[in-house]
Amino acid sequence: MPPEVSFPQRLLTWYDRHRRELPWRAAAGEVADPYHVWLSEIMLQQTTVATVRAYFEKFTTLWPTVRALADAPLDDVLTAWAGLGYYARARNLHKCAVEIAHNRQGQFPQDEADLLTLPGVGTYTAAAIASIAFDRRAVVVDGNVERVVSRWYAVDEPLPQAKPRIKALTDRITPAQRNRDFPQAMMDLGSGLCTPRSPSCLLCPVSEGCQAFIMGAATAFPKKAPKKPKPTRFGLAYWIENDRGEVLLTRRPDKGLLGGMMEVPGTDWRSDWHAQWPDPQAELSGTVLAGEVEHTFTHFHLRVRVVVPDCPADGAKTAVDAIKKGATWAPLEDLNRFALPTIMKKIARHALENR
Ligand code: SF4
Repeated sequence: MPPEVSFPQRLLTWYDRHRRELPWRAAAGEVADPYHVWLSEIMLQQTTVATVRAYFEKFTTLWPTVRALADAPLDDVLTAWAGLGYYARARNLHKCAVEIAHNRQGQFPQDEADLLTLPGVGTYTAAAIASIAFDRRAVVVDGNVERVVSRWYAVDEPLPQAKPRIKALTDRITPAQRNRDFPQAMMDLGSGLCTPRSPSCLLCPVSEGCQAFIMGAATAFPKKAPKKPKPTRFGLAYWIENDRGEVLLTRRPDKGLLGGMMEVPGTDWRSDWHAQWPDPQAELSGTVLAGEVEHTFTHFHLRVRVVVPDCPADGAKTAVDAIKKGATWAPLEDLNRFALPTIMKKIARHALENR
C-alpha cells in the first residue's frame, strides 16, 4: 500500500496505544461532551495544553453545563478567564453560550457550516467540534497538524502563505472513518513525536513516506516567513489609592485589546513617543515609581511606568473620570475578584511593592 494511503491506518493504530488522556477528552470508545470539546478548543487557541488544563477544570467546576455558563454574569466569566489572554475569546465564549442556551435549546449544531455561525468559532474550531464531538469528517488543521503535514510532504512554501496547501494535503490523508479520532491522533503525533525542535522520527508510525525524514531535514519544516520585529509601546499607569484601602480601576472599552477588562487607569500605549516616556505631568501630575513593568503582547512589547498622583484621591478620581469613563474603587485586599488581565496584575504588584 502506498505510504499516503496507509498513513491514517498506521497513525490510528499508534493512537490506540499512545493517546493522551486530557480532561476534555472522552475515554476510548466513549462520546465526548460537545460543551467540553467547544470550551477546550476555544481555550486552546493560542494557549498551551498545560495552561488550559487548570482553566478547563475551573470553568467546568463553576459552570458544569453550557446553560450554567450562559447564566453566569459576563464579569464572572472574564474574572475566571483572567490570565489566559486574548480576552475577546472570553467575551465570545459567553456570547456563544447564551446563543446555544437560549436559541438552540442547549444543543450545539453538528454541522461545520452551522458551527461557523457561532460567536468566536472560526474555521479550525468548527472543524474540530464537528469531528471530535459529532464524528463528522472534517479537515482539522492546528499548529501540530500543520507541522506534521508540512514535514510529511516537505512543503517548501513558507507559512502563513502555505496554509491553503497544507489544508488541501491534510484533506488527502484524512480518512472517512474514525472521524473523531483522526484529528486527535494528528494532534497527539505533533505534540508527542513530531515536535518542533527534536522530532522522534525513529519512533514515528508514519515515518515511511515522510519526505522531511527521508531528506534528513525534519526540523527544516515548516518553512516560515521571517518575523517582523515587534515595536515597543510606552505608557503610564496611575496608581490612585484612597484612605479606605481602595484603589481606582476603570473598565477598558468593549472593543479592542483586553476589551471589557478592568484596568489600572493610565495613558494610551503609544509607540510614537520614539522611545521616550509620555510626560507624567500631562494628564495627572505625580511621583513616578522606580522601575517599570514590561509585558509582551502578540504584536508589540509594552513598557509602563507607574505614577502616584500628587492630588487627593477624590480629585484624582474626578480627573480620571474625565479621561476614562466609569472609574470605580476596588478594595486592595480583594483585587482578585476583579477581571484584571495579566498586564494589570503586574502593574498592581509593581505599585504595591514600590509605592
Ligand atoms: Fe514528523 Fe519525523 Fe514522523 Fe516525519 S517521521 S512525521 S518528521 S516525526
